[in-house]
Amino acid sequence: MKLRDTLSRQLQPVTADDSGVVSVYSCGPTVYDYPHLGNWYAFLRWDLLIRTLRADGFKPVWVMNITDVGHLVSDGDEGEDKLAKKARSERKTAYEVADFYTSYFLEALKRLNFTAPDHLPKASQHIEQQISLIEELEKKGFTYLIDDGVYYDTAKLADYGKLAKLDKEGVQAGARVEFNPQKRNATDFALWKLTPANQVRDMEWDSPWGKGFPGWHLECSAMCRHYLGQPINIHAGGIDHIPVHHTNELAQSEAAYDRPLAKIWLHSDFITVNGEKMSKSLNNFYTLEDIEAKGYDLRVLRLAVFSVRYRSLADFNWDMMEAADRRLSRLQALSARRYQLQGAGEADVLASRLQTTLEEVGRELADDLNSPKALEKLDEVAQGLAAEKMPDAVKPHLEAFIREVDEIFGLKLSELADLRPEQRELLDKRAAAREVGDFNLGDRLREELSAGGIKVLDTDYGQIWRPS
Ligand SMILES: [Zn+2]
Repeated sequence: MKLRDTLSRQLQPVTADDSGVVSVYSCGPTVYDYPHLGNWYAFLRWDLLIRTLRADGFKPVWVMNITDVGHLVSDGDEGEDKLAKKARSERKTAYEVADFYTSYFLEALKRLNFTAPDHLPKASQHIEQQISLIEELEKKGFTYLIDDGVYYDTAKLADYGKLAKLDKEGVQAGARVEFNPQKRNATDFALWKLTPANQVRDMEWDSPWGKGFPGWHLECSAMCRHYLGQPINIHAGGIDHIPVHHTNELAQSEAAYDRPLAKIWLHSDFITVNGEKMSKSLNNFYTLEDIEAKGYDLRVLRLAVFSVRYRSLADFNWDMMEAADRRLSRLQALSARRYQLQGAGEADVLASRLQTTLEEVGRELADDLNSPKALEKLDEVAQGLAAEKMPDAVKPHLEAFIREVDEIFGLKLSELADLRPEQRELLDKRAAAREVGDFNLGDRLREELSAGGIKVLDTDYGQIWRPS
């Protein structure tokens, strides 16, 4: 399997340790609000990455952090902590805000049928690891203390900014004039922010430099190393993380431990909504609840997300949700065929067609997660077999195919139930009516079935039903 590594700007083969373990760290949510579609796109893309690695025979170990402290409003070192700000506006403590949105997030992972991350560490519970990382940097001379905290001196790291190909002089010149005048370089960032003398924060800890809280970038470096070691195989996040967050994570980890942080850096591109940038003023920060309010199953969202490759700009709109909904219906129709096989006959040709499709899907995903192409392969087989006669002998092959598709795309097609007895009865009645030429009754029964969510297709060898 190959992935496009942001640092080398090239496709790189995925590597594993001797026992096949691939360590993956993806930057998770800041738990101060409901995640919006842009967040879910990135998270779902990493879910597909993990599922693909597993299908490829690797043993992924996935860490996704929960940011509950230190992420400032500006994403840099300016402004208030996002959680502290929300807590103030909701008259709650930062811990209450974090608990609420963390529970929501974990529940939402289940609703979206995520493969469970192996670890979901919270920044606030790994203060010790973060402090020892700062101490390591301090020992090596990468830090300095100013009035509001401990900072990382980016001038000390020769290749600082290599991930984003930052033009350091350009950044210096372009820095806003109001940036903290005690900072040595515009790109320097806080490792530890001190609580001002006259303040008390909900979230603050003692440290060798005084009471305060860790910088946002620090948690990822510290928890990544704590759970996965260094270097890890794959580090993933949104492209908005490249210039600051990942640049600084990389700078901390590489300076502290003299080796690369990650072998492959993977970045998920932005999404637009109806061609426009997501923004508060356009009120287009859709949440999962907005998707469900429009009547969509969340599996449709999975398919919508996977219909665009992770490193391409994706436009979210209701037309593409409709297309994803039709795609899910076609796959459900194929899954329903498990319950309506048609007697004796050879299965070889169909079995090999299903097998070939799985191989093609695997090849497309192994090619830098080309999920749109992989889904096209599924469309081809689902459409091609829609009206084809399937003998009983196809059953184990079809069941295995559906299971594998579920493993990779998380669509729960295997969970589709057979007809209920009363639906079966209507279907049999309809067959009998058509047998004796009573097409009026046949049509009425078709409508009745349709009202109950079952569509019927007439073929040369009888009726085929599928969920609508
Ligand atoms: Zn991170």
